[in-house]
Amino acid sequence: MSDRAYENGVSRGHGESWNSPDAVADPSSRTSTGTRHCEPVAVGTPDPGVPARIAAERAEDAVRATGHGAWVDFFRDLHANPELSMREHRTAGRLAESLQSSGLDVSEGVGETGVVGILRNGDGPVVMLRGDMDALPIREETDLAYRSEASGTLPSGGQVPVMHACGHDMHVTCLAATADALAEARDGWSGTLLVVGQPGEETFQGAKAMLGDGLFTRFPKPDVALGQHVMPAPVGHVLHRAATIMAATASIDVTIHGRGGHGSQPSSCVDPVTTAAYFVTRVQAVVSRETPSFDPVVVTTGMFHAGTKANIIPDEAVVTLNVRAMTDASLDRALTAIRRIADAECAAAGSPRPPTVAVFANGPATVNDGSLVEGLSAAHTSLAGTTVTQLPTPLMGSEDFSEYGLPGTRYDGDPVPYALWMWGGADGDRYPAFRLQDLQSGTSEIPGNHTTRFELAAEPAIAVGNRLLTSAALSYLS
Ligand SMILES: [Zn+2]
Ligand SMILES: [Zn+2]
Repeated sequence: MSDRAYENGVSRGHGESWNSPDAVADPSSRTSTGTRHCEPVAVGTPDPGVPARIAAERAEDAVRATGHGAWVDFFRDLHANPELSMREHRTAGRLAESLQSSGLDVSEGVGETGVVGILRNGDGPVVMLRGDMDALPIREETDLAYRSEASGTLPSGGQVPVMHACGHDMHVTCLAATADALAEARDGWSGTLLVVGQPGEETFQGAKAMLGDGLFTRFPKPDVALGQHVMPAPVGHVLHRAATIMAATASIDVTIHGRGGHGSQPSSCVDPVTTAAYFVTRVQAVVSRETPSFDPVVVTTGMFHAGTKANIIPDEAVVTLNVRAMTDASLDRALTAIRRIADAECAAAGSPRPPTVAVFANGPATVNDGSLVEGLSAAHTSLAGTTVTQLPTPLMGSEDFSEYGLPGTRYDGDPVPYALWMWGGADGDRYPAFRLQDLQSGTSEIPGNHTTRFELAAEPAIAVGNRLLTSAALSYLS
């Protein structure tokens, strides 16, 4: 473990925000606009049972007692063997094996490939720790000795290269290491630890699948759910936000139907490629012309598929978009506009029938519980080698961690209060000019999540991630 790595790039004091105080107090981001998904949880939030500094000290002792050298090998093995969403069989097996050897009761196959580990240790709250396990269809281009050469099969049947380009290998490693540390230190706390290895985060399937398979009925329902995500910042940086931290999202397939024919005779056809091109261009106006200036929405066209040959006008074109917004209402407004524009472009082109539209990978915003974040920020600030910053505005990334806080169709009873934080996983020595504000403006030189060169400094990132998760759990396990 390199202490220098913690110091590099750490330029701000504990608990600061990187922007002005005005930005922190942004009322529109602090109170959501009353949609069902985005109400902050106001009732039944457990306060930390253990003072922050004591939780941090206990975590340091627990983590030190277990060492972390073996976890670097564990991480490298996961990194070299990534698996696509809902197909994390090997990864789940490795996590289950580790939890078992730490003394937890382990159940596999929860929500297809999910793993649940339970450590009952007397009276006290049920604390859930969640780590996601899936990788992405990306070809790795790092120079790591343990880089992925793996491939996988998409649901469509296509073969693709696979890479842990979102750090879920790091999340699984910290989950296993924290469970081990807490099991080792069980004389010092009381309560029930619920460890959740979740499949399919990238496709927004996993949390729903695990809840649908009885995560909160077959196993103890948590009093609090905690999660962390690694980010492209030097190790030592920790980001919290006592409100919405990540966006709501949905993806949408739009199939534009035309009438194909010979490329030399467009007048006898209805060209779906031209229509789809107009659609892709016009749909940008959803943000620029239809969305209020202070309501951030993103519309990205990620896929455009049509045709097989230059001189054939195809029968259809398929455009797939991703939409992000801070509330369900804003997301719904954007999706409605996209449907309207698709209908209208097809009508304008004389399409033989209206477009076929399918929404998928739909997930709510991640709205942290304010009082949980307050307690966790204090515990994390007390740890050696960390700089805790309060995010002034939410991130446009999305997570299905929020599903655990939403009763109704997912589970009965009160909502489970939750908190998700981010921590830096990059080698600070390589990026001495890094500034935290560059993360949100998109100008950071550190390769980001979902890129071919996303790379984590394994040893220090595990050490800090393990401390963060362990101290967070020990804040509630009295
Ligand atoms: Zn991701
Ligand atoms: Zn991720």
